[in-house]
Amino acid sequence: MNLKDYIAKVEDYPEEGVTFRDITPLMANGEAFHYATEQIVEYARSLKVDLVAGPEARGFIIGCPVAYALEIGFVPVRKPNKLPRETVEVNYDLEYGSNTLTMHKDAVKPGQRVLIIDDLLATGGTIKATIDLIEALGGVVAGCAFLIELEDLKGKEQLAGYEYKTLMTY
Ligand code: IMP
Repeated sequence: MNLKDYIAKVEDYPEEGVTFRDITPLMANGEAFHYATEQIVEYARSLKVDLVAGPEARGFIIGCPVAYALEIGFVPVRKPNKLPRETVEVNYDLEYGSNTLTMHKDAVKPGQRVLIIDDLLATGGTIKATIDLIEALGGVVAGCAFLIELEDLKGKEQLAGYEYKTLMTY
């Protein structure tokens, strides 16, 4: 199956000059969504992970079915003021401005092997922030998985020393 057949290319979104890769056609197709999920499940099995973590919101969409298939837990990584209990936070720089991501303090136990899942790797800021949160809690980042990597944005430089897998590259 060619998963790229299910990725829509949207020019000038969310702003002029940006090419956005839209995964919603893939999610809407049962066969494609199942196939993509299975690829990541196989990868997770090879890494022997205890837990899946995913940044909002598209990391939830891909991460939850993987966790379900493996019968392991899923931990949400969220924007500030979304999680109700005590959190750890990390700030990271964007091209213009900065962002913050948070996790519940008890979301990962020391030594747990975590697979981080997101839809897309661009500059790597989101994945690096998520790695920092998991490690701050004593978790071990066993690997990272994405549907898509935008190679020009060099996100893999943020992943030096970590295992990762992408199903499609542009
Ligand atoms: P990064 O932090 O620059 O690596 O950006 C990755 C994050 O931005 C992911 O959580 C993606 O969901 C989102 N993102 C960036 N570009 C795109 C895109 O073209 N399509 C879908 N999501 C994107």
